[in-house]
Amino acid sequence: MGTHTNPEVVIVGAGIGGGALATVLARAGIAVTLLEKSLVHVDQVRGEWLAPWGVAETQRLGLYEALLAAGGHHLGRHISYGDDIDAATAESQPLDLMAFEGLGFKSPLCMRHPVMCDLLDAEANKSGAELIRGVTDLQVMPGAAPEVRFRHDGVEHKFNPRIVIGADGRNSTVRAQAGIEQHRDPTHHLMAGMLVDGTTGWPADLQIFGTEARINFLAFPQSSERVRLYICYGIDDKRRFAGTDNQARFLDAFRLATVPGSQHLANGVPSGPCNSYGNEDTWTDAPYVPGVVLIGDAAGHNDPIIGQGLSITYRDVRIVRDLMLENRSWTPDTFRPYAEERRERMRRLRLAASTFSILNAEFGDHARERRMRVREERMRNSFPDVTPATFVGPEVLPAEMFDETILDRLRAI
Ligand SMILES: Cc1cc2nc3c(=O)[nH]c(=O)nc-3n(C[C@H](O)[C@H](O)[C@H](O)COP(=O)(O)OP(=O)(O)OC[C@H]3O[C@@H](n4cnc5c(N)ncnc54)[C@H](O)[C@@H]3O)c2cc1C
Repeated sequence: MGTHTNPEVVIVGAGIGGGALATVLARAGIAVTLLEKSLVHVDQVRGEWLAPWGVAETQRLGLYEALLAAGGHHLGRHISYGDDIDAATAESQPLDLMAFEGLGFKSPLCMRHPVMCDLLDAEANKSGAELIRGVTDLQVMPGAAPEVRFRHDGVEHKFNPRIVIGADGRNSTVRAQAGIEQHRDPTHHLMAGMLVDGTTGWPADLQIFGTEARINFLAFPQSSERVRLYICYGIDDKRRFAGTDNQARFLDAFRLATVPGSQHLANGVPSGPCNSYGNEDTWTDAPYVPGVVLIGDAAGHNDPIIGQGLSITYRDVRIVRDLMLENRSWTPDTFRPYAEERRERMRRLRLAASTFSILNAEFGDHARERRMRVREERMRNSFPDVTPATFVGPEVLPAEMFDETILDRLRAI
């Protein structure tokens, strides 16, 4: 059994949430150890588009400058294309992402997920946190005096910190071992993603979104030569991006009749795997038990169609950091305000994501007509639009806009 000085905090998972929380707690003088199962962060197809409200969270955490210095790329324009609008009309109505500056926000920021994880881990190290990579056989025992056991380099280790933070992502071991129940929506569609290089003809400041035939497509440039692409597609089409030639089929799907210049995306070169996931939201009623708190995807994740997971995670980090510094008892009472805020935040984002999914990731003539009708109604202000929440944060819009009956109204069209 390896012996250690017990840190005050053990964080399991050195991804976005773990690396960020380790950094800010260590900066505040708290002894933190980060346990990470991987030896290197690799592209598993995760989030790389940070919403303006998420960028604001990184500013409040004192992490933004480091993201920018490591290549964080701000976008300038959004265009919604698709088979429910002609390209000239779509291009005459771009969303100026720089206009968020007027509301006190930066425009969305893009960065490769493994690069962001590496950067945050390096910041954590620099701030005095210990990082142990390649851990296996993790066991977390919650309680007033929690215990963490794991193996590293063939040796079993044990820690007795004051608190364990589960930042170990969507399939969280910590959540399961702490006995925290996870709720899950039914899967509505699948989402595939791939990073593509050699996209020099595509404007580096332009993100796009839209639906054509049987796919909903999204593209987020990371530089003048690299774009993160995603495609949402039906469960009934689940083999669409399966098999050995899935990268080629994924790129081919980006030959979009409704998007001028989409060949610059389709002619790119795969720069990572093409992986698919179910879109469903998950959530927990209270992301803590005595001795254990969950953050990020481990605490429940949002449908990636609206790209909120990174922002959610940075907000979790900020709130948990503030509560831990304000009240050093770190009992369940310390974290109650976090659970309350998160419950409503995730409810609103779940509703926003469901409206996007019904509207944009359902296919066929009827779905296309519904998109056209909703656009017209929104122009007349006769159908609620919660899209702004995905840019400036779910708390900014009035609560009554997040009324579940929007979904019934949509389904009834
Ligand atoms: C297809 C897809 C597209 C997405 N697009 C976006 C987007 O555009 N914008 C956005 O904001 N969000 C997006 N997201 C969501 C976003 O990626 C996540 O919400 C975010 O990465 C969560 O951060 P995290 O730190 O909780 O988890 P992660 O970043 O996944 O980190 C978890 C870490 O824990 C480690 N770990 C796991 N198990 C253990 C263990 N037992 N012991 C030790 N370590 C462990 C992992 O190796 C990993 O390093 C997307 C997600 C998907 C699936």
